[in-house]
Amino acid sequence: MTSADARPAATGWSDDLLACVHCGFCLPACPTYEVLLDENDSPRGRLALMRAHEEGRIGSEGAFQLHIGRCLGCRACETACPAGVPYGSLLERARERAPAPRRHRTGLLLRALTGRRAGAVLYALGRVVRATGVAGFLARRLPGRAGLGAGMLAATRPFAGLARATGLGAAITERGAEAPARVPERAFVLLEGCVMRGLFAHVHEAGRSSLRRRGWRERPAPGQACCGALHAHAGRLEEARAMARRNIAAFEQAADATIVADAAGCGAALRDYPDWLRNDPTWCDRARALAGRVRDVSELLAEPATWGREPAAGDPGERSEPRPVAPGSRTEPPRRQRVAYDAPCHLLHAQGVRDAPLAALAAAGVDAAPLPSWERCCGGAGLYNLLEPRLAAEVAAPKLREIEAAGVDVVATGNPGCQMFLGAALVRAGRDVRVAHPAELVDAAERAGERAADVVAENGPEEGGRR
Ligand code: SF4
Ligand code: SF4
Repeated sequence: MTSADARPAATGWSDDLLACVHCGFCLPACPTYEVLLDENDSPRGRLALMRAHEEGRIGSEGAFQLHIGRCLGCRACETACPAGVPYGSLLERARERAPAPRRHRTGLLLRALTGRRAGAVLYALGRVVRATGVAGFLARRLPGRAGLGAGMLAATRPFAGLARATGLGAAITERGAEAPARVPERAFVLLEGCVMRGLFAHVHEAGRSSLRRRGWRERPAPGQACCGALHAHAGRLEEARAMARRNIAAFEQAADATIVADAAGCGAALRDYPDWLRNDPTWCDRARALAGRVRDVSELLAEPATWGREPAAGDPGERSEPRPVAPGSRTEPPRRQRVAYDAPCHLLHAQGVRDAPLAALAAAGVDAAPLPSWERCCGGAGLYNLLEPRLAAEVAAPKLREIEAAGVDVVATGNPGCQMFLGAALVRAGRDVRVAHPAELVDAAERAGERAADVVAENGPEEGGRR
């Protein structure tokens, strides 16, 4: 089948392609160009292939399929582009034209990861295996994709239990009383997602806890679905649009609430709904209204907590008075955690959220230093690392060397795909470095600060200091 046979109507495709002025500013930003040094594996080259395909000069197999398939979809080229070429949108539309074999392969993966029944079974099984601790063992012993999959599962384990032993609360208790006035209550709805709900429920809970400390109240949004990001990245745009419509209707039930995403890829998808539905007059305005309400959790956590205690479970309406942590009280950890930050591409490049995760960590007293390549893709890229494992590993290699050279204990990054891919690589290499979501670290630090405050309140600063 050729491109002409498979070509869907794509209004705006040609205009968007023509925006590229071939300046090449995007080339140094492109990880696949850096590894492969092939113009066809650069943003400019891929745009040229899209244009050739659009003009009927090439089909959707061969070079088109190869080089479009090798793109990480990291959208670093969009950040670098002075002409405003909407590369991410063009890539999704190009993948919609990709021939069937690749789409079948991704279709099976998507059904397993995002299907309601298949996902529920898969994730329940994953949680059982994760709890046994056998995933890390298998990751170090199994070759290829089997070892990678086991490592990715091992990398999803919760971080919170480590906080007390490793001193994350120290900076908070040292900083002392900084409690601002009580803030008015604000409402949020959480995008639950599929992988996040299945394997990262602890990240959801960490974000919820820290948001409650900042005066946010959760509202329900029943009926929400997978965001559709993985489907859109794979070019399955009709399926992605169906999910978008379902989520728009679900989130309209809490129309005055901020929509919080704690997975960068999911947040980016929600903000892309107006693009996905641009040709649908019934849904486009509703998609725009939804996109305007979306915030990454780090944007809300960058505001310091009031240090009031969280409401007790089952007592959602009441919030106790803010209680500052006593000045001078401190935990005595063996040493402070060394934390590095790596930006998810779909937070930094697709959503333009640059500083908020670092600000959120700093507000919680966690000193995190960006990795030298913090703005560059880790190679995970959703399903990419499973579909293009060798190239993904080559993209990841410099970042893994940086992590080793930095001698850190934790790498913070706010996207499940990045967390699983980097975490798996570290587990498989036998490195004692955890990859955690910034919200987990913020919550762990704030809980440690609260525990220290309890001791101080009950026994006085001296007893708190001996804790
Ligand atoms: S999305 Fe990333 S990998 Fe793809 S062309 Fe742009 S910079 Fe390169
Ligand atoms: S920076 Fe933008 S305009 Fe220049 S080559 Fe890259 S995509 Fe085209």
